[in-house]
Amino acid sequence: MFSGIVRCADCGEKLYYCTSMNFEAIQDHFVCSTSRLKGKEVCPTHFIRTVVPEQGVLAHMRMTIACAANHEEQFRRAMGAKQQAEAKKELAAKRRQLTQAERRIKELDRLFKRIYEDNANGKLSDSRFQMLTDDYEQEQEELREKPLLLN
Ligand SMILES: [Zn+2]
Repeated sequence: MFSGIVRCADCGEKLYYCTSMNFEAIQDHFVCSTSRLKGKEVCPTHFIRTVVPEQGVLAHMRMTIACAANHEEQFRRAMGAKQQAEAKKELAAKRRQLTQAERRIKELDRLFKRIYEDNANGKLSDSRFQMLTDDYEQEQEELREKPLLLN
């Protein structure tokens, strides 16, 4: 359950999960990968039985559930505040993306005018003009659809 998540408190590296057919479930454990790979001089052997984090997380879940059950109103408020903060952050990010998209749409309008003039002056071939026009139009269309997808 905790494989790849738990880390050594001293060196910060991953803990290896150790289990065996010959082990009782209670003997399953994690060992610091640094002490295994580089030796005990680098990081002393840290060892934790798997049941310890399991029981710790279970205790924490029970506490959270009890807290939610016994103090429902406060719990609701605390979670609501957290969600609101996250929603606000998300909205700000979407606004930034929208501003960028609008800026690019305007830029594409300017570019389109320029290639139109270049084509009219004979600086840009008709086929090249058509190709660029298609590209710009496609990009604009995608940019105009994007904000809708974000909502
Ligand atoms: Zn370590």
